[in-house]
Amino acid sequence: MKPIGVLALQGDYEKHLNTLVRAEIPAIDIRYPDQLLEINGLIIPGGESTTMNDLMKRVDFHTHIADFAKTKTVMGTCAGLILMSKKVKNDDQINPLGILDIEVTRNAYGRQLNSFVDTVEVEIDNDHSQQEVAFIRAPKISTVGKSTTILGKHNNDIVAVKTGIHYGFTFHSELNENEYFHKCIFSDNIDFQKENNAA
Ligand code: GLN
Repeated sequence: MKPIGVLALQGDYEKHLNTLVRAEIPAIDIRYPDQLLEINGLIIPGGESTTMNDLMKRVDFHTHIADFAKTKTVMGTCAGLILMSKKVKNDDQINPLGILDIEVTRNAYGRQLNSFVDTVEVEIDNDHSQQEVAFIRAPKISTVGKSTTILGKHNNDIVAVKTGIHYGFTFHSELNENEYFHKCIFSDNIDFQKENNAA
């Protein structure tokens, strides 16, 4: 079974790799586009979306990830969600991938001082739960297209979405030792692996 990849150009990719390992999901870091052939799903981590965008441009990751996303799941947290969106309303330096049918505003909660940890209510694939997550200079989702399902809100803000097979979160769950989201989204990978081991 192919592992799940974490885009490892910039940001908190190591936290995602650790979370996958704790969830017993095989994981590798992705630094070059041809590595996408080796994985079954991709996580785009939080970080600085402008910097990540520039690093992605150097090796044409945009085209390769957009291609990958035609058949495989991509999940993004915070800056990852910004890069996966259709439009970044307050930044035209970023070339969003357009795999989540949403429009976003960067740094929409204010400065670093306005970062916080809180509980969000989410429903992923019919599983309803409350999860503790971190909002760090987080974006806000201003527009949700018809093909997008809202999976969670915090106060009145949409913070978790799904477009087709792709997931985006404005927050970080990987900082709180929380494996819930990784397990929900990539659990097929575990089951398949376990069946294979048992056989
Ligand atoms: N503020 C960052 C950006 O706009 C996102 C922050 C994060 O990923 N925690 O790219």
